[in-house]
Amino acid sequence: MSSSQNLVKELTCVRCPLGCKVRIEYTEELEVIDVAGNKCPRGREYAIQEISDPHRILVTSVKVKNGKYPLASIKTTEAIPLRLFDEAMRIIEKLEIEAPVKMGDIIIENFLDTGANLIVTRSIERL
Ligand code: SF4
Repeated sequence: MSSSQNLVKELTCVRCPLGCKVRIEYTEELEVIDVAGNKCPRGREYAIQEISDPHRILVTSVKVKNGKYPLASIKTTEAIPLRLFDEAMRIIEKLEIEAPVKMGDIIIENFLDTGANLIVTRSIERL
């Protein structure tokens, strides 16, 4: 296949604070042609994951029962696959946690079998 038919993505690696600019060239079938700009192998892994199964930290809020505020902000402790976000939101929309909650409290361990926990990022006192 000629390089004109290949796809190219320019990414910023988020695996460490250095934030290398990584360029990945690949085919529509996700065959990797070239990865450049990464200072270590983790950048290559990150770029390949970004074209095949991108991950993000999910940040949202959950309903709180008997709390000073009706919602608490929550997030996953690690990036989870973007393809699971719809399913994750359907689960979170049905959840209601009981106040008080403290920042860092785990709502769901190993959320959707991703290895990440769903945690509270804002403390809410009880009414
Ligand atoms: S490629 Fe390696 S050195 Fe560069 S940001 Fe990613 S993890 Fe850090």
